[in-house]
Amino acid sequence: MNTVYIALGSNLNNPIYHIEKGIRQINHIPLTYVERRSSLYKTRPVGPQNQADFINSVIRIKTDLEPIELLNQLQNIEKLHHRKRLKKWGPRTLDLDILLYNDIEMNHERLVIPHPEMINRDFVLIPLREITNMNFTLPKYGKLTKYIE
Ligand code: ADP
Ligand code: MG
Repeated sequence: MNTVYIALGSNLNNPIYHIEKGIRQINHIPLTYVERRSSLYKTRPVGPQNQADFINSVIRIKTDLEPIELLNQLQNIEKLHHRKRLKKWGPRTLDLDILLYNDIEMNHERLVIPHPEMINRDFVLIPLREITNMNFTLPKYGKLTKYIE
């Protein structure tokens, strides 16, 4: 099976509920199960500051779905949380981003892997570090720890 890391984030209407429910829903995607999850992290929003704190987590899954099939499933789950795409970096009930898929690099119009912002975001890097080992290496970017001070 393929090994995939996914970042979850929420800052609207009981964010912990949305994250926990999102993880259960991901575990129910066909040909997919959740293997490991990080703790929940509370973080200040990126961009507009006049919004609630985020809850973030990173999980590792195993899946037999192709990257785009997985993205379709994740966007479907976002929809079930009534996510509305109002504005970039605005509040959201549930954001699901594919960080890594095995060690592939891809640049599809709907899907860029590794996620291009991940190395700039402590709210992704720190939970990812929690569930990987010291020598964990990102395709394209190299050693994870070099992005964390
Ligand atoms: P953001 O996560 O940047 O706040 P959105 O969740 O609204 O923004 O996603 C915008 C688009 O990003 C989606 O329509 C999706 O097709 C695209 N996208 C590109 N790469 C990825 C990825 N690695 N994981 C999830 N979505 C991605
Ligand atoms: Mg997203």
